[in-house]
Amino acid sequence: MADPCLSCGACCASFRVDFHVSDLENHSGGGVPVALTVPVTATLVRMRGTDDGPPRCIALEGEIGSAVRCTIYDRRPGPCRDFAPYAALNIGDEACARARRRHGLAPLGE
Ligand code: SF4
Ligand code: SF4
Repeated sequence: MADPCLSCGACCASFRVDFHVSDLENHSGGGVPVALTVPVTATLVRMRGTDDGPPRCIALEGEIGSAVRCTIYDRRPGPCRDFAPYAALNIGDEACARARRRHGLAPLGE
């Protein structure tokens, strides 16, 4: 079965994505380009676009619900790595379902 996230992307256009500065490329171990973020506090940054109305992460390419790609997938920040970890197996969770409904998509597995 194809990974449903590749034809979704709803979570990347639904929630604020805030994370610790240690995930930035200028920190050892991090890889998120600083230019794709905005500072929130001294220790927190946010993916650009995720606090817009409507939200959409600057790193997301493509059309939601059709074909999408995270342009920094291999170095995406912690909250993105941790989000709905079984979605690729077509098993979502509440936040995944909320994001999908927001974009007119049925929750995974339905
Ligand atoms: S985790 Fe859920 S909301 Fe996010 S892209 Fe995958 S299916 Fe869509
Ligand atoms: S960094 Fe990638 S996975 Fe995370 S919200 Fe943005 S597009 Fe989605």
